[in-house]
Amino acid sequence: MQLDTLLPSPRRSSVLVVDDQVANIQVLHGLLGDEFDIRMATNGDDALRLIHASPPDLVLLDIQMPGMSGHEVCRRLKGNAQTLDIPVIFITAQSTPEEETLCFRNGAVDFIAKPINPAVVQARVRTHLRLKSQSDLLRDLAFVDGLTGIANRRRFSSALEAEWRRSRRNATPLAVLLIDIDNFKRYNDHFGHLAGDACLQRVAATLADELKRSHDLMARYGGEEFACLLPECDAAGALSIAEALRQRVESLRIAHAPDAASAFVSISVGVASAVPSADGLPSALVDSADQQLYNAKAQGRNRVCG
Ligand code: GH3
Ligand code: MG
Ligand code: MG
Repeated sequence: MQLDTLLPSPRRSSVLVVDDQVANIQVLHGLLGDEFDIRMATNGDDALRLIHASPPDLVLLDIQMPGMSGHEVCRRLKGNAQTLDIPVIFITAQSTPEEETLCFRNGAVDFIAKPINPAVVQARVRTHLRLKSQSDLLRDLAFVDGLTGIANRRRFSSALEAEWRRSRRNATPLAVLLIDIDNFKRYNDHFGHLAGDACLQRVAATLADELKRSHDLMARYGGEEFACLLPECDAAGALSIAEALRQRVESLRIAHAPDAASAFVSISVGVASAVPSADGLPSALVDSADQQLYNAKAQGRNRVCG
């Protein structure tokens, strides 16, 4: 499996133009509309609503508008973790040094003076959108496991924190599965490390493919171990998904090393599910799944414990 099959495919970048003068928006649309998806807002409140509903890749922001000023819009975007990374370029007639300084202090990446020079607007917008797409790509790559292309441990940990908080608010159960390939050292010793890598890739793809809901997550936790996060899943549901995963891997019928416990590659799975409490920790859920994984190994492998 290649990384590029798992990362979002390139799409047209989107730009939100915020200006109380519709004529100004039309000029910018004329300059940028062929290359980018242009959305528009004529006041700060509408701009913030649009940005939260569907974050653009770049905001072109007028400063002087009735109601909320452009400065205030920018401060609010930079004060919110969800919108902090969206670059803002101010476009304004107030091009005094003090005004420019204030724009950068409020978190803008750039400043364009009116009346605008079309070539300058296009060049700066292109530059900042290219930087944005590069930093988005790096952020996505930082959450992907290089060998298998599925989520990595960092991604699992951050999703676990977020889903733990969400489950606590909604008083719904959250389940964690820890999955470990049985006797994998013997597989490597017998077939070699490259074959071991290929086996890990097949098992990872199979495990990830078995998950059906969009909030479910399969991650490589390390070595030949995987971790699965299942929001809104009670113990019975988690046990049945774990058993389905175990069967899927068994049904691949990947020949195992002669001295392994079974003829085909298999997994052991530890299952834990809980409704998060105010004083509980997400790591306790992982510890509990780990204890169950230990039990599954102790009871002979190729089985689910929970
Ligand atoms: P158990 O059934 O108790 O889990 O036995 P095991 O042999 O699977 O467990 P152990 O932890 O002793 O060995 C894990 C092996 O997984 C050792 C290591 O060589 C192999 N492994 C870990 N990461 C990789 C990897 O990225 N590629 C390959 N090919 N092998 C790996
Ligand atoms: Mg193992
Ligand atoms: Mg292991």
